[in-house]
Amino acid sequence: MTPPRSIVVAGESIAGITAARELRERGHAGPITVIGAEECGAYARPPLSKAVLKDDRADSTLGYRLDGLGIDVVRSPAVTADLDRRVVATANGREIGYDALIIATGARARRIAAPGQRGETVLRTLDDARRLRTRLDAARSAVVVGAGFLGLEVVSACVARGIPVTVVDVDPPLRRILGPFVSGAITTRAEEHGVRVIVTGGPAKLTGDPVDGVRLAEGTALTADLVVTCCGEVPNTAWLAEAGLAGPHGVAIDPACATAIPGVFAAGDVTCLRTGGTRTPFWSTAVAQGKAAAASALDLVPAGPPLDDYFWTEILGLAVKVVGPLPPPGEPDLVEGSVPGGSALLTWFGENGQRTVVAYGKRVPVPKLRALAG
Ligand SMILES: Cc1cc2nc3c(=O)[nH]c(=O)nc-3n(C[C@H](O)[C@H](O)[C@H](O)COP(=O)(O)OP(=O)(O)OC[C@H]3O[C@@H](n4cnc5c(N)ncnc54)[C@H](O)[C@@H]3O)c2cc1C
Repeated sequence: MTPPRSIVVAGESIAGITAARELRERGHAGPITVIGAEECGAYARPPLSKAVLKDDRADSTLGYRLDGLGIDVVRSPAVTADLDRRVVATANGREIGYDALIIATGARARRIAAPGQRGETVLRTLDDARRLRTRLDAARSAVVVGAGFLGLEVVSACVARGIPVTVVDVDPPLRRILGPFVSGAITTRAEEHGVRVIVTGGPAKLTGDPVDGVRLAEGTALTADLVVTCCGEVPNTAWLAEAGLAGPHGVAIDPACATAIPGVFAAGDVTCLRTGGTRTPFWSTAVAQGKAAAASALDLVPAGPPLDDYFWTEILGLAVKVVGPLPPPGEPDLVEGSVPGGSALLTWFGENGQRTVVAYGKRVPVPKLRALAG
């Protein structure tokens, strides 16, 4: 393949920014255009549910820049991709041609409100985080729907402000991602902090218009000043509908981040792996895929795999860092420390011999965790 002359990266967040930087790192001197949909430009999302909910001084520390790399940035969402003509059209009427396209349009918050029901609160963007921080300033009670890492980080923000909070999910907290042992430990810790944890028998529904409560599958009604939905995310693929490139789990990619269409690559939360349809909507994977997609777009060999299994969260004052396959099964080996004491290093051996390592409230450098995971 002749290396592409012009490259378009659709999506201005960590996967897209990483891809654009990597293209220059790998020696691409031709035109690069990054298409973004958020007026404020690229920023880090993980701090939104951590520092930003606590402190408005964090807002100005999140941005990413592409200065000095000779990259054009167009801040108007991509609305269609014509894969035959190799042209992306943007909402402001531009048509941008490419030799290679990297799709990095990420995901949006999954909403559960009924059609027409107003006032659902979610957390995906900086604007969402600012709105939620203002709501937290005034709230005297809160319900969070979804006890994954995002839901529990919002719960933590409520606890830090002394707001009585209930969290509702069909599974125990973090169980889908961190397995039964860590889920049990986190549930105990949440309850010790006064959090009401409800495991319900089916999907909860939002009540009120605007939303002011939740009805559980069992019929129980909960009301609160603040109701926050943290029920996962949906890949942003509507602009690719006519191109026929995306399925319900996103844009399918191979291990080199190539799609089924020559010259089209994808990275980050918008993707799923072609084999198995697995989605891994985490930060480190978005970085790994951004690099891999850039290398592949230049017809070079990616330096690493398209998955990075490092993940972290901060819950009720506890940093939890994880490396390895998720969810880890059953009971771990305790390498150091104590879980009730809030500082422990845990390992699990999976059936395939792969190891999962969790630093539970314990300060362990990520390279050491990776080395322990083997
Ligand atoms: C509040 C929060 C906390 C998180 N905390 C953690 C954490 O602690 N650890 C962790 O590992 N992960 C965390 N994550 C997940 C992590 O942030 C995501 O995996 C990562 O942001 C994915 O990056 P991305 O570039 O693929 O997509 P995104 O960050 O979703 O960015 C996609 C970009 O594309 C833009 N876009 C959408 N449609 C179009 C279009 N048609 N044209 C142009 N642009 C478009 C979007 O506006 C967005 O700017 C968190 C996520 C959130 C929301």
